[in-house]
Amino acid sequence: MRLLLVEDDRMIGRSVEQGLKLEGYAVDWVLDGISAEAALAETDYELVLLDLGLPRKDGLAVLTSLRKAGNAVPVLILTARDAVSDRVRGLDAGADDYLVKPFELDELAARIRALARRRGGRPTPLIEHGALTLDPASHEVTLAGTPLALSPREFALLHALLAEPGVPQSRAKLEEQVYGWGEELESNAVEVHIHALRRKLGAAWIANLRGVGWFVPREPPPA
Ligand code: CA
Repeated sequence: MRLLLVEDDRMIGRSVEQGLKLEGYAVDWVLDGISAEAALAETDYELVLLDLGLPRKDGLAVLTSLRKAGNAVPVLILTARDAVSDRVRGLDAGADDYLVKPFELDELAARIRALARRRGGRPTPLIEHGALTLDPASHEVTLAGTPLALSPREFALLHALLAEPGVPQSRAKLEEQVYGWGEELESNAVEVHIHALRRKLGAAWIANLRGVGWFVPREPPPA
């Protein structure tokens, strides 16, 4: 899952970026409103974390033009302004949720998961496909009830593949969802993680359509 973080406070930005990367998210971080708009025009994000007080273009203005352009990406406002009127204006401008600074990283992560669930139209937090279950909250993956030990990248890849069983995902699309900007990326990184996943799950769980991409079969393999 790839997120855009828009925050001009370097200390907050760095701690949010690092904390969310440890949770297995790909995070792109920009420090002003104009750079945020450039990133949003370039990349399909699953969520935007948006500070309101920003240089070059205010967060509220970024949000307003984003919605005017028809972009429905979930937006979570991060703001030091605890005035009720700011929150109301943010929500009225099309934000999905907000957090008042200072906040705990655990709470931010929980709200991100809640927004992702709502966007996916899933009423329950657990993703199930045949004998395989993936819990986005705890990062626990079980196969026929047995927990599997996955690295954060393997987890992120499996999460991306389980979002659309039967639909091949290209290497570029998977890289985009698993890695943020400037992250060290070996040319065969996706293959390496897919290989590890197939070893842990069983090869039948991840199919490859040559030249197109990888997918979890729509009909789940027997456990
Ligand atoms: Ca700020």
